[in-house]
Amino acid sequence: MPYHLLIDGKLVDGASSLDVINPATGQVFETCARASEKQLEEAVVAAKRAFPAWAALSHPQRRTYLLKLAEAIEARHSEFATLLTREQGKPLPHAAGEVSYAIGALRHFADIDLPVQTRRDTADGRVLEQRTPLGVVGAITPWNFPVALLLIKIAPGLITGNTMVVKPAPTTPLTTALLGEIACDILPPGVLNVIIDANDLGGKITAHPDIAKVTFTGSSATGKHVMASAADTVKRLTLELGGNDAAIILDDVDIKDVAHKVFTAGMLNSGQICLAAKRIYAPRAIYDEICDELGQLAQQAVVNDGLLDGTEIGPVQNKQQYEKVLGFIKTAREQGTVVAGGEALPQDGYFIKPTIIRDIADDAPLVREEQFGPVIPVLAYDTIEDVIERVNNSDFGLGGTIWTKNVDRGLDIALRIQSGTVWVNKHLDIPYDTPYGGAKQSGFGCESGIEGLKEFTQLKIINIATNATA
Ligand code: ADP
Repeated sequence: MPYHLLIDGKLVDGASSLDVINPATGQVFETCARASEKQLEEAVVAAKRAFPAWAALSHPQRRTYLLKLAEAIEARHSEFATLLTREQGKPLPHAAGEVSYAIGALRHFADIDLPVQTRRDTADGRVLEQRTPLGVVGAITPWNFPVALLLIKIAPGLITGNTMVVKPAPTTPLTTALLGEIACDILPPGVLNVIIDANDLGGKITAHPDIAKVTFTGSSATGKHVMASAADTVKRLTLELGGNDAAIILDDVDIKDVAHKVFTAGMLNSGQICLAAKRIYAPRAIYDEICDELGQLAQQAVVNDGLLDGTEIGPVQNKQQYEKVLGFIKTAREQGTVVAGGEALPQDGYFIKPTIIRDIADDAPLVREEQFGPVIPVLAYDTIEDVIERVNNSDFGLGGTIWTKNVDRGLDIALRIQSGTVWVNKHLDIPYDTPYGGAKQSGFGCESGIEGLKEFTQLKIINIATNATA
């Protein structure tokens, strides 16, 4: 079995193994190591043991390790991308983009040092701010972006001096295992440990007394379990949870152009993005035209195995999600009008036709809940006040987009949307220096940016009197 765990600097077999399914075929194509609870324990012990020496390195020393890791991943870029498509389903060019993004994250955060800062220096004394590492950090990642979301945690986690135990989702473990194999030759033993489970060890990580922080990306439902289980140890948490982002189209847009952009915002990665456009609001005057345009785009989209040239939309990542999305579609068919799609593709694998639903009420599950798949409801609105109220009437608050020729109008609305990010005339632009995170039940804390980096540190204040004769 070529896909191992990484524990204490060694690639090891699991106590058992895990079958990995290619979502484009629905068939097992690989097996990988699956950790026992004992192996998780060994990983935590190793990370704890490695922590003092890793934390004691200078920033330039840790930077060198991270840059070597980036270089080694880059050397196997196409292997990573192909493996990502095979386990996750996304079209190969998108997988390649994800790998490049992950490498870029390593390089970006490797360069950032957080030296002691002087916050105040007056006649009364000096106040200094020190950022210290937390200890062992547990990183739990989901199956939609297994490489990007892993490295966006590892890069800031390691550069700030923490050691880590990382755990991918059971349906996409291979790219994380490959990262472990690469890291094994580069990082000191115990600094980075890779544990693979069958959805049974996440709770052990979040409750573990020797894990100081958990950075979690996943569903809101699981995020609530994480929060509850972290309470006993007052663990630091970063929770990147679900979203139900609205795309608000204003009445001044070029319909063809914006329909295309909004369609991509909703269907990229088969709609399996926490920050995907999950409900589209169009002014009533152009509602029919927008729906027709989106419907055409859905019909034209090339849905196929992500490894094949020309594929625009791959399969849904796993069977459970496939069935869940088909469930949303079934209910939505009864509650609205299908403009395009509305069913699975008649072939093996977890393929669903891109689906556009119109004339559906605000309280329909497809509108209120997170569908996380290639099906989008389109809703008509009458006034800006009306649409802002409906958009904000949600337990989620992750992102959102506004589409208009008038940036000032867009900004006015953006200022009133209750979410962690709002894009105007663009989508999913997340440079490494820009934090993103959720409002409301979409989570708390953030990733990326200097704010995201600081979440891997303890803020410590040193307050010194000027007069040494106390
Ligand atoms: P899904 O419901 O689509 O499987 P999750 O949010 O449950 O998505 O999965 C995201 C990550 O959380 C995965 O790595 C998964 O193994 C992990 N996970 C599942 N259950 C728990 C739990 N109780 N505590 C911590 N992590 C968990």
